[in-house]
Amino acid sequence: MSFLAPQTCCHPPKTLIDLPEFSLNIIQYPHPTLRYKSKPIKRVDEELKQIVSDMFDAMYEAKGIGLAANQVDLPFRLFVLNLSGTRGEGEEMVFINPVVSAPKGSDEFEEGCLSIVGVNAVVNRPEQIHVQAYDLGGNEIDATVNGMLAKAIQHETDHLDGVLFVDRIGESSKAAIAGELEDFELIFENERSTGNIPEDDAIMDRLKEYETKFC
Ligand code: ZN
Repeated sequence: MSFLAPQTCCHPPKTLIDLPEFSLNIIQYPHPTLRYKSKPIKRVDEELKQIVSDMFDAMYEAKGIGLAANQVDLPFRLFVLNLSGTRGEGEEMVFINPVVSAPKGSDEFEEGCLSIVGVNAVVNRPEQIHVQAYDLGGNEIDATVNGMLAKAIQHETDHLDGVLFVDRIGESSKAAIAGELEDFELIFENERSTGNIPEDDAIMDRLKEYETKFC
């Protein structure tokens, strides 16, 4: 995720030794792909399986417990989760074309996001949901879930619709993090001015290419 456990909100120091081999970078707010409404996946091939593997690598490297495809600049309705946040522990879950329904109750939890690193705020979400999706092997996921798993699934499914957790917080929380978001916006503009981030048209052209291939 994008969805971070509160105690793991910051990037770990990077050294050559613990840099794993992965090729995907997690994009940061306000990158336009984070606002892109992702398209359903129609085919799973070896390339997509490699992307999923790389997404897990990126998620573990960033100390997250979940990561949506558009956080690595890809337009697919797909996210990965491992609530343990640690490779080799917990359960690695892949959700393809997830549909969330039947919300019940409400619960508050302090969320963070790998695409807004270091920013946390309390979000109120349904405590229980139903989720239908497919895993990488084409098996149907059809479950009623609650607790942390329900929160994570909602946070990640939001990403696929271009929604960020900061869109779901109260006005006072928004005011409290406004300065931090402005800092992200300044960094983004600077990165773009130096050519490290493409212009919107180039970003959209690339997303459409991936859609043509997989969606
Ligand atoms: Zn997130």
